[in-house]
Amino acid sequence: MSSPFNFDRVVLSDAYDPLRQEVREFVSPFRDTWSGWKIAHTWGGIDKEFSKAVGAKGWIGMTWPKTYGGAERSQFERYVVVEELIAAGAPLAAHWVGDRQTGPLLMRYGSEDLRQSLLPRIVSGELTFCIGLSEPNSGSDLASVRSKAEKVEGGYRLNGQKIWTSGAHVSDFMIGLFRSGADKDAPKHAGLSQFLIDMRSSGLSVRPITDLTGEHHFNEVHFDNVFVPDNHLIGEEGNAWKQVVSELAFERSQPDRFLSCFVLLPMLIDELGTPDRLAKRRVGESVADLIVLREMSLSILGQLEAGKVPAQEAALVKDLGNTYEQKQPALVRELIDAAHDIRPSHTLSDALGYLTQSVPSYSLRGGTREILRGIIAKGLGLK
Ligand SMILES: Cc1cc2nc3c(=O)[nH]c(=O)nc-3n(C[C@H](O)[C@H](O)[C@H](O)COP(=O)(O)OP(=O)(O)OC[C@H]3O[C@@H](n4cnc5c(N)ncnc54)[C@H](O)[C@@H]3O)c2cc1C
Repeated sequence: MSSPFNFDRVVLSDAYDPLRQEVREFVSPFRDTWSGWKIAHTWGGIDKEFSKAVGAKGWIGMTWPKTYGGAERSQFERYVVVEELIAAGAPLAAHWVGDRQTGPLLMRYGSEDLRQSLLPRIVSGELTFCIGLSEPNSGSDLASVRSKAEKVEGGYRLNGQKIWTSGAHVSDFMIGLFRSGADKDAPKHAGLSQFLIDMRSSGLSVRPITDLTGEHHFNEVHFDNVFVPDNHLIGEEGNAWKQVVSELAFERSQPDRFLSCFVLLPMLIDELGTPDRLAKRRVGESVADLIVLREMSLSILGQLEAGKVPAQEAALVKDLGNTYEQKQPALVRELIDAAHDIRPSHTLSDALGYLTQSVPSYSLRGGTREILRGIIAKGLGLK
């Protein structure tokens, strides 16, 4: 039976090597000052000053038009920058959502005045965005969100609650999903709209949720008659479902979906020194899996560049990528325990401590394992 999935090969040529080298040289002095705990956060870590330094290099919004401050470089160049930064454990979260999601969303659906006012500030690393999708009773079943936007003179009034909002407490804006504009009997995918919300708006409150690692990363965000002006509606009223779904192929197939624990691997190899047969085999298997995931991810990028939306292939990469990432801390522990003469460095222990606690969340964020497997099953004609 031929595969229903398309993974045509895309090879990154040597032409990208100078850029790769430039990123390595840029990040190296920063990296020397970061703790193991910090590098383990990598793209989930917030460091606004570092994001501004990345912006000054022209590496945020680097594929966007020059009129909005972008550099009109290719998606492949962006890929090289992103994979090098994540591989180094760089904290990217202060600009991550703006670069990966909000900028492209505004370019497709935002008004011209929003594009002009926000995109150059995303490019400079100045603005931080959060994603307001999940609600207390709407996670996987996102179309069931109940927070409401009601049309009023000159804009909309928002009421309701979001939950698990990463970085809401340090964000300038949220892109939030609200129910609006459809009558109550309309299908639940209809009547959803996306809004740009200023996090300093009156009536908006952010409450912390402490996660398993003891950190404040998540939040509840409450809306009590929060006003947003008309031009903060993103795209068409009632059309947000299509807009949200089209963002997901990008969100689910990039290096962040399989490199979240990568920092452990080079540290482990360094500390093992001369590895024994077991270490060679186990590290070799891990690198082989990584190469396959990277090939799949690059193939999806090639399809996105060609204007396709490979949503099922992206679900496959995220599910396999998360499964791979989740095994990394256990692999490192196993090999360190097996090498009796090694005492792991403070940096490795620190990174391992954080990642051991945070990996369970990888198969929840950005779509749970079961939901992804449902999408894959549809692609196989099993559903
Ligand atoms: C680290 C992290 C960061 C996050 N950041 C954000 C953020 O910034 N903004 C935001 O809006 N949300 C965020 N989330 C929330 C995340 O999107 C949700 O946790 C996720 O969508 C699952 O929703 P839920 O927690 O309500 O679980 P539920 O949807 O209630 O699911 C519970 C369990 O039931 C399973 N399940 C549900 N429906 C089905 C089905 N139809 N078939 C089979 N199994 C099913 C799920 O797979 C899961 O195992 C984040 C989550 C994490 C872990």
